[in-house]
Amino acid sequence: MNPLTDTPLDAAATIETRDLVILGSGCSGLTAAIYAGRSNLKPLVLEGHEPGGQLSITTLVENFPGWPEGIQGPELIENMKKQATRFGAELRMAHLTGADFSSRPIKLMVGKDIIHTRTLIIASGASARWLNLPSEQALIGHGVSSCATCDGFFFSGHEIAVIGGGDSAMEEALFLTRFATKVTLINRSENFRASKIMLDRAIAHPNIEFLPNTTVEEVIGVEEKEVKGLRVKNRTTGVETILKVSAMFLGIGHEPNAKAFKGIIDLDEDGYIVAKDDVYTTLNGQVVPGVFACGDIKDRRYRQAITAAGSGCMAALEVEKYLEEHGR
Ligand code: NDP
Repeated sequence: MNPLTDTPLDAAATIETRDLVILGSGCSGLTAAIYAGRSNLKPLVLEGHEPGGQLSITTLVENFPGWPEGIQGPELIENMKKQATRFGAELRMAHLTGADFSSRPIKLMVGKDIIHTRTLIIASGASARWLNLPSEQALIGHGVSSCATCDGFFFSGHEIAVIGGGDSAMEEALFLTRFATKVTLINRSENFRASKIMLDRAIAHPNIEFLPNTTVEEVIGVEEKEVKGLRVKNRTTGVETILKVSAMFLGIGHEPNAKAFKGIIDLDEDGYIVAKDDVYTTLNGQVVPGVFACGDIKDRRYRQAITAAGSGCMAALEVEKYLEEHGR
């Protein structure tokens, strides 16, 4: 029987047993894997739907200590993977399809297979938010992007739109002025949520124009397979206009990848894991033994590669302590 669903197990299904499974292969999951690997825990890392996490869609990372000239995000992730596997971590391309934390060992469903594990580190991060317009989705990679550092260069000499009114949007807009002749910041609200310092910087920039109280109704260019402009609407007057731009960058925040854990551990109102003392997961305020969280899935505030890595280290050290206390 499948212990998660009480249905007969598929003949091809396997059951394996582990000391530690890590969900996610961004820099928090991989740092946890390096530490746990060095402790001889032979962690299994399930890479999930965004292998390498957000660093894998970034270009130059200039603020990760130890790289005075900076390092490309994908290269940093590749290095971390090599480091983790050198110490015995196993990386597997697989998606979690179910989990049961109600008994020990913890049970994870991966496709039709089941993994029993004594401990779990959830490091599945947060993904960029999209407007979810069909035309936007059709043009991702063809002028629609959620990563200014990755794709800004391709629009050198063009006019660009950035969506959002928070610090991410300000940061993207300011960054994109290195390439674009003009950046239009489109915010659905009249007021901008960004911190004063970031907002002031953007306002002071001669190549940034603000379009508040405006929504994007359509990204134009689906047939041509490249962004030709945006159909935008003023929320007060309802008047629609066409804004000619060659690219649209989303800066509207992130979505934590924690939906699979709804109801089995505590999530906050935005779906981030509530991590007690930074690493322990809880259910109704009580610690869930052996299940830890690290990185952006529980961090809406700092969201940096180095803080995610530090948090992965903390989670791995807690796993070691937990397993020692529970007789490993
Ligand atoms: P925020 O949640 O602060 O802002 C999101 C913005 O996107 C808001 O303007 C919001 O509009 C808008 N938005 C959300 N959903 C949609 C939608 N579906 N359609 C249109 N607009 C939408 O997210 P950020 O990523 O900007 O920031 C998150 C945290 O990270 C903050 O604490 C921020 O300070 C921090 N940060 C700090 C940086 C720095 O200091 N350098 C850089 C980047 C982030 P509305 O206001 O109408 O809801």
